[in-house]
Amino acid sequence: MFDRLIQFAREQYRTKEFIPLHAPVFGGREREYVLETVDSTFVSSVGAFVDRFENDMAAYTGSPRAVATVNGTAALHVALRLAGVGPGELVLTQALTFVATCNAIAYCGAEPVFVDVDRHTLGLSPGALRRWLEENALIGDDGLCRASADGKIVRACVPMHTFGHPADLDALVAVCAHWNLVLVEDAAESLGSLYHGHHTGTFGALGMLSFNGNKIITTGGGGMILAGEALGARAKHLTTTAKKPHPYEYVHDEVGYNYRLPNINAALGCAQLERLDAFVEAKRVLAGRYASLFEGSDLRFVTEPDGCRSNYWLNAVVCEDGAQRDALLEATNRAGVMTRPIWALMNRLPAYAHCRKGEMANAEWLESVVVNLPSSVLPEFL
Ligand SMILES: *Cc1c(COP(=O)(O)O)cnc(C)c1O
Repeated sequence: MFDRLIQFAREQYRTKEFIPLHAPVFGGREREYVLETVDSTFVSSVGAFVDRFENDMAAYTGSPRAVATVNGTAALHVALRLAGVGPGELVLTQALTFVATCNAIAYCGAEPVFVDVDRHTLGLSPGALRRWLEENALIGDDGLCRASADGKIVRACVPMHTFGHPADLDALVAVCAHWNLVLVEDAAESLGSLYHGHHTGTFGALGMLSFNGNKIITTGGGGMILAGEALGARAKHLTTTAKKPHPYEYVHDEVGYNYRLPNINAALGCAQLERLDAFVEAKRVLAGRYASLFEGSDLRFVTEPDGCRSNYWLNAVVCEDGAQRDALLEATNRAGVMTRPIWALMNRLPAYAHCRKGEMANAEWLESVVVNLPSSVLPEFL
C-alpha cells in the first residue's frame, strides 16, 4: 500500500522531485496586484486592497463583516478579547489542534480547558463539551457559567475545523447557548468549507481565518476576523491601534493593537480569493482520488462529515495502529513524498500541561494514528 501511495502521489503531481504537503499556487493576478502596490508605494497601512479584500471575503463567506489582520493568531486573539475573554477566565477548546488556538487564549490571560473531539469530524465533540460542563460547571445567579471547583468564569468555547472538515456546529451552537458561552470558531483551516450550506466561521459570535503560506489561500502571512456589524466595527478599531478617525490628530481611545494587514499582503489575498473556488474544486477532486486509492485497504481515508462540503485543505488517513503510522511516515518521507503526523495534543506541551481537561480517548487515539498526505492543488488545475 505504501508503494502504491508513493506512486499515486508521483502520478498526481507529475514529478520525480520532492512533493511537499502543501505548497501555495499563484496562477492568477497575484503579480499584477502586488506590483500595483509597489508602483503606487501603497504597500503598508494605507491602500485600497485591504478594504477590497475585507469586502470580498465578507461577500464570499456571507459574514456581515470581515476584518483583515497580520495573521490568524492575531485574529483569534482579538476575536477572544471581543468575546469578553479576560484574565483568570476559562475557554473550552480541543487538545487536538494547532498551538495557535491555545496561544490566543493565553494572550488574553485566560486558560484553555481541553475536551475531546469526535472521530467522524476530528472537531470539538458537543457530547464531550456537554459532559465536561455538566460535571464541572454551574450557571451562577448572574447568568454566567462558572467552574464549580473555584468559581472561575467559563467565558467562551473555541471549536476548530480540523483539516477543513466542519465540526458538528448545530450541536455546538446549542450547547454554547444553553451554558451561556460565546462561540468563537477557529476556521483557520476551513475557508471554503460549508456546514449545511453555510460557511464555517459564520456560526459563532465571531470566527477567524488564516492566510499563512500553508493554508488554502495565502497572503504571505495574514488572517481575518468574521463577525456581525457591531463586533466587526469593534474588531476594526481594536486591530488598528484604536485610533479615532480625525483629519490629523492622534486620538487613541483604548489600548489597541497594531494588527492591520498591510496592503501588499491584501493585494495577494484579493488575487488568491479570485481563485478560491477553483482551488476547493481541485482539492475535492484529489480527495476523491485518494478515497478510491484507499478503498478496501486497511487505511481509512478521512472524508467530509454528512451534510458538509469540506475544502479538503489537508488530506488525511487513519492508520490501524501507531506502528503502521510510523511505517507509513518512514516509507513516504524516505521516498521524497512529504507526509506528517497530526499535532501532539496541547495538554502535552509545557505551557498547557497544567490546564484542566476532560477525558480524551478520541483525541489520544487520533494523535497516534492520523497521517496527513500531500494536498497541494494538482498541476492539471493550474
Ligand atoms: C494556521 C492556524 C492558525 C493561525 O495561524 P497563523 O499562522 O497565525 O495565521 C490558527 N489555528 C489553526 C488551527 C491553524 O491551523
